[in-house]
Amino acid sequence: MPSFEARTEDQRVRLASIELLTFDIDGTLTDATTWWAGEPVGWVQRYSVRDGEALLRIARAGLPVVPLSRNKTASARRRIEHLGCAPDWLGVTDKIGALEQIRERHGAVAAQHVLHVGDGLDDAPVFGQVGLGVAVADAHPEALRAAHLVLEAVGGARAIEELEARLRGANNPRLLGNRETKRGPT
Ligand SMILES: [Mg+2]
Repeated sequence: MPSFEARTEDQRVRLASIELLTFDIDGTLTDATTWWAGEPVGWVQRYSVRDGEALLRIARAGLPVVPLSRNKTASARRRIEHLGCAPDWLGVTDKIGALEQIRERHGAVAAQHVLHVGDGLDDAPVFGQVGLGVAVADAHPEALRAAHLVLEAVGGARAIEELEARLRGANNPRLLGNRETKRGPT
């Protein structure tokens, strides 16, 4: 796994204090392509197994990972459930409101300890409500502007893996000492 040094002390401090990670799906966990697979499957997206593995490692190390997405397709739900994540905030049109619910669900974690990673126009205001807003490299310009940290990876191509490396690189206590990955397809 490559290592990524925090570019600034501010980024390192923010990365080290994260207790909850929320993530967008389309354009973040996927490469933003979608195609019609016919009924009854509907719309489908392309995911990276490597990002799936990274999400599993992060969650198993003790940092909760929660999808927060407008995507409400059956394929996304299956993918999220396969990764062991709560599918409760899929099809969300109000990400700010949903973020409040997610924080409450996780022991009223303070907003400053939340990391949200995304790519879209609707992620930009979320970045303003959390301790660490992270944009993928090919995010919408508004999201890039609002983010505290812009990844080198584009959406759907190891962005979550890079984020994991950055959290570990900043010695986030939740991620120290656990690099286990589930066997089998992820
Ligand atoms: Mg998106």
